[in-house]
Amino acid sequence: MSPLFMTLALVASLGVFACSARNRWRLMRVGPADLPLDNIGERVKRTLRFAIGQARMPRYKAAGIGHIMIFFGFLVLLLRSLILFARGYTANPEFGYWIFAAGTPLGNLYSLVKDVFIALVIAGTLIFFYYRLVNKLKRMSHSGEALLILGIIFVMMIADVVYDGANIEYIQRNVEGAVHHAWAEPLGSLIAPALDGASDGALGFWRHLGFWTHAGLVLIFLNILPYSKHFHVITAIPNVFFQPLGPPGRLPNMEDLEGMVEREETLGVKRIDQWGNKAILDLYTCTECGRCTDFCPANKTGKLLSPKHLTTDLRDFLYRHQAVLTNASSGAAPGEGDGDGEGDPAPHQVDLIPNVIKPEVLWACTTCRACEQECPVFISYVDKIVGLRRYLVQEAGEFPDQLQTAFRGMETSGTPYNLPADDRMNWAEGLDVPLMSDSPEFEVLFWVGCAGAFDDRAKEIARATARLMQIAGVKFACLGPEEQCTGDAARRAGNEFLFQTIAQMNIEVLNGYNVKRIVTFCPHCYNTLAHEYRDFGGDYEVVHHADFLLDLVRQGRLRPTGRVEATVTYHDSCYLGRYNEIYDSPRQTLSSIPGLQLVEPAETRDRGMCCSAGGAQMWKEEEQGDIKLSFARTNQLVETGAKVIASACPFCMRMFTDGLNLQDIENVEQFDIAEILLRSVEPQPQTA
Ligand code: SF4
Ligand code: SF4
Repeated sequence: MSPLFMTLALVASLGVFACSARNRWRLMRVGPADLPLDNIGERVKRTLRFAIGQARMPRYKAAGIGHIMIFFGFLVLLLRSLILFARGYTANPEFGYWIFAAGTPLGNLYSLVKDVFIALVIAGTLIFFYYRLVNKLKRMSHSGEALLILGIIFVMMIADVVYDGANIEYIQRNVEGAVHHAWAEPLGSLIAPALDGASDGALGFWRHLGFWTHAGLVLIFLNILPYSKHFHVITAIPNVFFQPLGPPGRLPNMEDLEGMVEREETLGVKRIDQWGNKAILDLYTCTECGRCTDFCPANKTGKLLSPKHLTTDLRDFLYRHQAVLTNASSGAAPGEGDGDGEGDPAPHQVDLIPNVIKPEVLWACTTCRACEQECPVFISYVDKIVGLRRYLVQEAGEFPDQLQTAFRGMETSGTPYNLPADDRMNWAEGLDVPLMSDSPEFEVLFWVGCAGAFDDRAKEIARATARLMQIAGVKFACLGPEEQCTGDAARRAGNEFLFQTIAQMNIEVLNGYNVKRIVTFCPHCYNTLAHEYRDFGGDYEVVHHADFLLDLVRQGRLRPTGRVEATVTYHDSCYLGRYNEIYDSPRQTLSSIPGLQLVEPAETRDRGMCCSAGGAQMWKEEEQGDIKLSFARTNQLVETGAKVIASACPFCMRMFTDGLNLQDIENVEQFDIAEILLRSVEPQPQTA
């Protein structure tokens, strides 16, 4: 076409892109290097499934399918663009099909596939134009940038078709013996007849216009990427590859806390350059699709927290101060303030809270992971929010007052309930439950948890679980006064010091009794004992009672024969469901009960709405919003028409007690799955 012009275009655009990419690379590395390279096989598997396979996209049907069409279209058309760049260096209109020689079955097949994907990309862009211009989806960011990019993609595709049509006509006029198969280039073949009578000059104009428009837009698009949300085109695959592989939601361990204090290191995240490379890659990768915020229970109930905006606010701050941050990290003097006036701290010294993120945003999070479950590019939130809370609690001493009471209780009496350890076995009165100290011959340790020990309603769950184990002949024992809070709430609230202290004390007791297997009915205890105590030398097989009871039913050790005539809806606890993928066993346990009819709420399983207790919310007042989250979830459950709300978490139950009582909802009861099962195993005169 024009080697000189093509060379100039390529050198200029690739040169500018290389500078932009280098700057973004340097910015990503302002913090500690932490991109993980362990377990490459699993990483590749997840990348193939979620990044290449787009596995999370169809969670939103139309938008997901639209994105899949564009994504795969880009993959197929990448080769096409390379071929076009090569044609810039030759007058041969068929040049480039050296890979799949023109006219060969493979060459024709690629041409056909390419046209199919051009059509799909056009359809995909039309879906997104619809969502942005007509439907105006609330979850999406409606910026000119997004429309510009859609416009570029759309015109790029049309230009390619125009070029193909003109090229088909050009080849027929100028290449002797050329054979054209309309089926192999269907889109171009639609355009070619329109140029049949065109002069050579006019034909050349359309051919060049299509060619240079397509090639030019590819290069412009490439250079817009690093400065837009479409940077995810480049960063999404690595972001999925570098995702944490451990159990979902397991918080990063703060190692050597005392050493950190001695070295005067910040305990938690105060400044943006204290986040590692992966966190910054997360910020680069946000597509602003808003799926996270769409399912964030805090946002849904009118709180300030929007996970998408948390990411974009941090990202915008990062980009605004790129030069200063990268200079500072390379050891050069920052050179300027944050732009607000002389004497301001440089951006790498600015406190993120409250300058970029308001504290009430952080304290509204229930750590439910709904955002992380939805995010198609695996951006994490809970670790970032807890990282910022760690700073607020451990360094700044700025946190909701009510948390102080819970912290004090955990410190002094081993429970946020602030009640004496000697009362821990009150729930078991009359049940003849052995203590570990008296009964070394135990099969499992029954970890009761603070709710089971001290909350009057949750004590009933402890009794039902113990009774079922007794009926099934399980040899179990409890720690009683030797049990302390697992520290889950302290850790999620940001008090890592307290969490680690408690964890170490519990582990010492557990290891002292050589505990191998633990059963608990609290998903928070379950998650912490199963996944977070390992970092401190506590390695146990931990089973939630949802799984444990179902096993006993399956083994025939528990026989649910009594009818429970009730319509029941089951609420998924976040720490059981999204954290540990335990969705089926509670439902199967309930379904094993004769007479019981199970109905699902509108938001259920991995899209189930949080009850509002997690992330230490149980121990503080809810942030200001339109409606209490516990009310909103209770209402969703009541709307099923069920007369019984079933749960498998004492804290969810506590929240629904508020939701029912404070909203004067009558004729709806709530029970733990163990209580309902016990009614069937030991039939009572009344129904559930
Ligand atoms: S963890 Fe839950 S509450 Fe927190 S930001 Fe994510 S969706 Fe919102
Ligand atoms: S964090 Fe993920 S889900 Fe949320 S807007 Fe960004 S890409 Fe979408």
